Amino acid sequence: MTTIGLIGGMSWESTAVYYRLLNEGVRARQGGLHSADILLHSLDFSAIAEMQARGDWEAAGDILADSALRLERAGAGCIVLCTNTMHKLADRITGATRVPFLHLADVTAQAIKRSASRRPLLLATRFTMEQRFYLGRLAAFGIEAVVPGEAERGDVHRIIYEELCRGRIEPASKARYLEIIGAALAGQGADGVILGCTEIGLLIGPGDVDLPVFDTTALHVEAALDFALAAESRAA
Ligand code: GLU
Repeated sequence: MTTIGLIGGMSWESTAVYYRLLNEGVRARQGGLHSADILLHSLDFSAIAEMQARGDWEAAGDILADSALRLERAGAGCIVLCTNTMHKLADRITGATRVPFLHLADVTAQAIKRSASRRPLLLATRFTMEQRFYLGRLAAFGIEAVVPGEAERGDVHRIIYEELCRGRIEPASKARYLEIIGAALAGQGADGVILGCTEIGLLIGPGDVDLPVFDTTALHVEAALDFALAAESRAA
C-alpha cells in the first residue's frame, strides 16, 4: 500500500484514533496480520494552539509546510492533516509538496453528498465554525452547513480545548453538545451533524443522535485507506 503521511499531534488524542482506525481498516480490508503503512509526524500542540490564539497563522503555516515536506522526503505517498482547524492552512501544505493532499472538508462534503443531508450542523472549533475556509469549501459542494449561536459556539470550542484535547471526557459536556444539536434540529432545520473537529468523536457518536452523523476523523481515515490501497491495486 501507499505510505500514508500523517501530520498529527493536534491533538494527539485524535491522532491516536487515526492510528488505530487506519490499522483496523487495513485489517478489515486485507485480513490476517495486515496493518497500515504509516509515517507520523506528531507536533507539540501547545506551540500550535498558542499561534492559533494569537492569530499567527503564518508561523503555523511554516510548521505545517515543513512537516509535510519532511513526510514527503521520508517516502509518504499522500498527506493527511489530522485536524479540521489547521486546514485553514491547507494551501501551505499543497504549496510545499507534490504528493496528494487528502483535504478533510472535501472528504466530508463527499460523504454528505452521498447522504440525504443538505443542511448539517457544523460542530468544531471557533476558527472552523466562524471563518470561511471550511464552510466555503463545503458550500462549493452545494452544502450550506449551519453553525450554532455565539454562546453555543463558545461552549463547543471551550470543551474541545479544555477537555477533549486534554483527554477529559465529561458527561456534562456530552449533555451540552446534545442540547446544542437538539436546538439546531428544532430551530435551524439541521438535518445532520458534522463532527468537524477530530476529537468530538471521543465525546459523541452516531448512537447518541437521531440524525446522520459525519465524523470527520472516521471519514478521513476511510478516504486515506481508499487512496492508499487503490494505488496498490493500480500498481499490481
Ligand atoms: N483537532 C481539532 C480539529 O479537528 C482541533 C485542534 C486544532 O485546533 O487543531 O479542528
